[in-house]
Amino acid sequence: MVIMDVAVVGSGPNGLAAAVICARAGLDVQVFEAADTPGGGCRTAETTLPGFRHDECAGAHPMAVASPFFRAFDLPAQGVELLTPEISYAHPLDGGAAGLAWRDLDRTVAGLGRDGAAWRRLFGPLVRNWRELVDLAMSDTRHPPLDVFAGVRFGRRLLEQSSPLWNLRFREDAAAALFTGVSAHAIVPPRAFSAAGVGLLLGTLAHVDGWAIPRGGSSAIIEALVRALEAAGGRITTGRRVDSLDELRGARTVLLDTAPAELLRLGGDRLPARYAAQLSRVRYGGAACKVDFALSGPVPWRTRDCALAGTLHLVGTRAEALAVERDVAAGRHADKPYVLAIQPGVVDNSRAPQGKHTLYTYAHVPNGSTRDVSAEVIAQVERFAPGFRDLILDRHVRTAAQMPAYNANYIGGDISAGAMTLRQTLLRPTPRWNPYSTPLPGVYLCSASTPPGPGVHGMSGLHAASHALRTRFDIHTNPLTLAAGTPAIRS
Ligand SMILES: Cc1cc2nc3c(=O)[nH]c(=O)nc-3n(C[C@H](O)[C@H](O)[C@H](O)COP(=O)(O)OP(=O)(O)OC[C@H]3O[C@@H](n4cnc5c(N)ncnc54)[C@H](O)[C@@H]3O)c2cc1C
Repeated sequence: MVIMDVAVVGSGPNGLAAAVICARAGLDVQVFEAADTPGGGCRTAETTLPGFRHDECAGAHPMAVASPFFRAFDLPAQGVELLTPEISYAHPLDGGAAGLAWRDLDRTVAGLGRDGAAWRRLFGPLVRNWRELVDLAMSDTRHPPLDVFAGVRFGRRLLEQSSPLWNLRFREDAAAALFTGVSAHAIVPPRAFSAAGVGLLLGTLAHVDGWAIPRGGSSAIIEALVRALEAAGGRITTGRRVDSLDELRGARTVLLDTAPAELLRLGGDRLPARYAAQLSRVRYGGAACKVDFALSGPVPWRTRDCALAGTLHLVGTRAEALAVERDVAAGRHADKPYVLAIQPGVVDNSRAPQGKHTLYTYAHVPNGSTRDVSAEVIAQVERFAPGFRDLILDRHVRTAAQMPAYNANYIGGDISAGAMTLRQTLLRPTPRWNPYSTPLPGVYLCSASTPPGPGVHGMSGLHAASHALRTRFDIHTNPLTLAAGTPAIRS
């Protein structure tokens, strides 16, 4: 039996964040990863033609730029070049109009005509106080920052955009669609509480540091974390799926970068029946069918400025977005699905051979869907960019049903590792005072199935590691100082 201080199961951004913090605290850390390459939902690969590099999951990184973990870790200092499109996200409409979320809030307001002032009133105060918003949204939910003003500022807007009042703010289609498109990232009907929260957070970050795209692909973030882990003496073994906690008996502490269902499988009979029942009740939600394209040229958007956007939301008006997300939630495929597109070539010319481009897309589909929806995705892109079809050199499809084979955390293709329902946003993954701990001493969950939820932010890893360091190793150093590379203090 190999003895180690900390075993981490899974090398997604949260698993690696936890591993780096523990290794920098002076502990002996070993990461086990089922896939042949590290990174989980943050990998890049040539899945179509040689020379075309596609982000297989995460593609745009407002969360990585804003997250306290990554700000302390300092991605640029670790060799990651974060490239920022002028337009964070765009939302084209039929007929050539589009909502454009420029990084510059004033420019966004100017482009939204009669709704510009309402957009400024929605986002201006959040943008000015973005750090407080991030601290609130990325907290462990047990210790939210005691900033009453931040809570009221956010809460007021959250209640408005998740209530029947949501249509009172905007008078025209573009602004309403723009906000709905970003809220739909939660893959729940966009007027839901969690969707409004996601929309406000990501929408605010769009006007702060923007929605960055790493040069070379999202895997650059993972490579930086792996370098830091190894420099601190940690090890990572890929191609090694853990099938039972018994395999990790030599570890003093185990951090699971896994979905609750995997904890259930790994823990088996060792889990108390009540906790096992809670884990088995976790709901997995709306899913993604990922379609990546190799293109002979840039996408010919009808609205010229869309060519400057890193990310685009393709679905049409607010009413259409609401209808298609309700379909998905009810287990139906939408004829014209919500498609999220990212065009890295706007800022990064390393993703494709000279003159060529990649387009990243995924469509929202019901959980467990086996359907290849690339025809619907192509039709949605064509709707706003006539001639797109003629540029396609190759495509790669991963259906929702195929997602778990790629990453066991995405059950039925649920890319949030647990549906973002109201209950599962507030009590994630189960109703428990400490969402990271489990009834098994020394076993913690550290994945996106715990607060603050999905995204490449490393904060679930940070919160879980912080708890493990204090309770298992009596290490009380602020985890952010460890993330920044400062040595640990043992009491
Ligand atoms: C299609 C898609 C698009 C996305 N787009 C974005 C985006 O643009 N921006 C953004 O911020 N986020 C995005 N996300 C979400 C983001 O990728 C995830 O929330 C994030 O990767 C979660 O990190 P994690 O460390 O919790 O888990 P993951 O990244 O899911 O990693 C978990 C790892 O654990 C491994 N594992 C699981 N079980 C075992 C086991 N038993 N033994 C060994 N290894 C195991 C898996 O193989 C995997 O590598 C997207 C996700 C998907 C799927």
